[in-house]
Parts: sequence; C-alpha cells; structure tokens
Amino acid sequence: MKIAVLGDIHSNIDALEAVLADAATQQVDRYCCVGDVVGYNACPRECLDRVRGLKAVIVRGNHDHYCSHNASLNDFHPMAAEVVDWTRRILTDEERKFLHDLPLMRIMENFTVVHSTLDNPEMWGYVFDKLEAESNFAYQATSVCFNGHTHVPLVFEKTETVRTEMFTSVKVVMGRKYFINVGSIGQPRDGDPRSAYAIYNIDRNLIELRRVEYDVEAAQKKILAARLPERLAARLAVGK
Ligand code: ZN
Repeated sequence: MKIAVLGDIHSNIDALEAVLADAATQQVDRYCCVGDVVGYNACPRECLDRVRGLKAVIVRGNHDHYCSHNASLNDFHPMAAEVVDWTRRILTDEERKFLHDLPLMRIMENFTVVHSTLDNPEMWGYVFDKLEAESNFAYQATSVCFNGHTHVPLVFEKTETVRTEMFTSVKVVMGRKYFINVGSIGQPRDGDPRSAYAIYNIDRNLIELRRVEYDVEAAQKKILAARLPERLAARLAVGK
C-alpha cells in the first residue's frame, strides 16, 4: 500500500497537476492531504475539485478554515489576508461548507494527519524546533504523523530524545515516533521552488520525499491575472 501525502497546495493547480502526474508514475493507491488546499494562489476551486476527486482524506488547514469561516483576519499577514478575502468570494457556498466541515485531525490506517500540531490543532502553531515537536509527541498515538503548515519539509524522530533533520527518505523503526512535515506543493519555502510531497510505502515502512518541477510561470500569470499581490507570484520562483 502506497499513500501520497499532499499538503499546502494553496490554490496552485499547475503545481498540483505536476505532483499528481508524478504520483501516478509511482503506483500510489490512496491520497491524503494535510490541509491548506486554498489560499495564496489563484485557483482555489480547481484545486478543491481535483483533491475531492481523489477521494483523499483531508484535514482542515488555517487557510481552509479562514476561507470558510467568517472569523477576523487580524492574525494574518495582510498579504495572506487579502487572498483569504478574495478566496471567500470566489468559492461557492457548497465549497465553503466542505472546507468548513473538514476535521482538524484524522487517523488513517496506522498514521495520523494534522495541519499544524496535535496538542492544539486549532491554535495553528508552527513546529520548527525540538521543544515544539516534544509537546506534539505527547498527543501522538500512532508511530507516524504527517503535518504541513511551515512549507518546509522536516522530520522529527523521537526515541529517548528528539532528533530533527531535513530528509529525502525516512525508514520507520518500530517503537519510535515520527512527526513529518511533507513540505508544500503550491508555495515551497525551503529555497527549492519545486513542489514537495511524500509517499508512504506502508509495506516497506518507508517514507520518501519527492520534489517535482512544474510550470511556475503559468502559476505566476494566473496570480497576476486575478490581481492578487505580485509578491505572491515572485516568491514562487525562489521557493521562499
Ligand atoms: Zn500553508
């Protein structure tokens, strides 16, 4: 059984299609998504439709949340808030309800899926260091948990202590716990503009991070055509 773990697609349909084409070459059986299907880029409806068509298990990210709830955007960067506001207007009532009703956390097979952290998923905390990972592990019931939110692929491994590293593959060892950020499909921020996603080969206990080139220029043109902030187009080229 091979599962593709998608995350932080952020309305970038060019990136999503490239990733799904890559996943098709890897004989993936099922799909899951760690959230933030919408926000930042120009194709929220197309991305939502595509992910729903995969019958993917999806959890709610902060952008999915704010695009489907009438909550104040005070905690958002003004540029992100502008796109949330735009996305709220683009989505249909049915699409907003779909995002609104997504769970914050799901357990699938033998692993967990969350957008931010398990200790307080609705607080949308960022996990960058071992201390932040440690409080998450206390709530992690499965050996493997996938998340997103920072747009930076990173693994935290818990034995007696917590270890962290950038990764290209992770061998899952019995008795240990793994909190794995699968990076971002639609807006990578680790300096590599290629889309990131992961494939979990459950039979081989192996998690592989994959990077996929896509047509960045096409995505940038859509952002500009929608009159969304130019900086959001520029950052795609540098992966920041
Ligand atoms: Zn995100």
